[in-house]
Amino acid sequence: MRSTRKLLQQGLDAYGLDRAKAEPLLTFAEMLLEKNQVMNLTAITDPTDVAQLHLLDCAAVLTLADLKGKTVVDVGTGAGFPGMPLQILEPSAKLTLLDSLNKRIGFLQEVCDALGLDHTRCVHGRAEEYARDHREKFDYATSRAVAALNVLCELALPMVKVGGAFLAMKSVDSDEELRQAKSAIAQLGGAVEDVRDYTIPGTDIRHRLVIIRKVKPTPPSFPRAFARIKKNPLI
Ligand code: SAM
Repeated sequence: MRSTRKLLQQGLDAYGLDRAKAEPLLTFAEMLLEKNQVMNLTAITDPTDVAQLHLLDCAAVLTLADLKGKTVVDVGTGAGFPGMPLQILEPSAKLTLLDSLNKRIGFLQEVCDALGLDHTRCVHGRAEEYARDHREKFDYATSRAVAALNVLCELALPMVKVGGAFLAMKSVDSDEELRQAKSAIAQLGGAVEDVRDYTIPGTDIRHRLVIIRKVKPTPPSFPRAFARIKKNPLI
């Protein structure tokens, strides 16, 4: 664990983030790997990989967007990515960690209790249903590894306030996916503001953050029920 701590501290230094946050991040990683023995939370089980491919990957978001004091919904957070590292690294943000699998949400509540993250909300629900009561309520939405961008935008953008943004973590090979989502993004009231590729510190792995600004309200007909989104994704 000592080498993982060092690697994490060096990664946080490289990003210009607070290296003291390596401790709560490691507590989260330990809880993740322990719970992963009895519950399917992550396929990544080597502590070094957890530090780089989960924690530092997600931390990159904070070098590209200022979440200080902002409300953020993490759509399909799973075992807490990117939402939990973002909450740990930016305590003034108010994260809602949303997932349709209740077991994962139960785990995330345990992490919040252990780390004293009192204002983080761990919510069991489907994004397209949660959006009905939380329409245009968040400054930001985030998401990683949940769905293709055209589908994902219908889940996330309705919850973002006009002037806010959806931060979609994607692979650097997502040019075609992005092109195919352009019309969907416009229909949902968004516009691609920036596409930023980054390297995870200590690796040569490059990932991407797509920043989609909410420029006008999402029409009330969205989001549709998931069966319809899946059957007829916006094109
Ligand atoms: N974001 C995490 C990560 O990067 O490790 C988890 C990714 S996992 C592949 C996808 C997660 O999205 C699952 O936990 C699943 O339950 C959740 N999910 C899929 N569709 C959803 C929806 N419509 N609303 C809420 N959660 C959803």
